[in-house]
Amino acid sequence: MDPVPEQYMKNIKELACVLQVIRDHIKAPLVITSGYRGPVHNCSTKGSADMSHHTEGLAADVKARNRSPKELADLVIMLCEENLIHNLGEIGIYPTHLHLSIKGKIEIWAANGASVAEGQSNKVGQLRSRGLQGIA
Ligand SMILES: [Zn+2]
Repeated sequence: MDPVPEQYMKNIKELACVLQVIRDHIKAPLVITSGYRGPVHNCSTKGSADMSHHTEGLAADVKARNRSPKELADLVIMLCEENLIHNLGEIGIYPTHLHLSIKGKIEIWAANGASVAEGQSNKVGQLRSRGLQGIA
């Protein structure tokens, strides 16, 4: 992994707090497959065009052995609904992992052949209308 510049450490810590809330609920390790990416690394990462949040320490890609990416997305949405996570940005569902970012407007999307369930997009819409967003 690339070293994190000092200016992004605050973001990394905030992101880690969100990941810890998720980890506490799945009661299993949450494997971070990608966290901070330096600008050069990000350009060479496949499918990274929309992933600039990784370059500011605002995003992580995660997976868990006991939950599919879609199930992880359901859990994250539930944790937001229960106000246990306040600052979520994007939830990106991939076949192999979940992309999470903090701050900004909450969004859900899918990539590489994965799909977003209607129930999930409805719930995210409700969270958005409730004004869930970080202090960008
Ligand atoms: Zn990502």
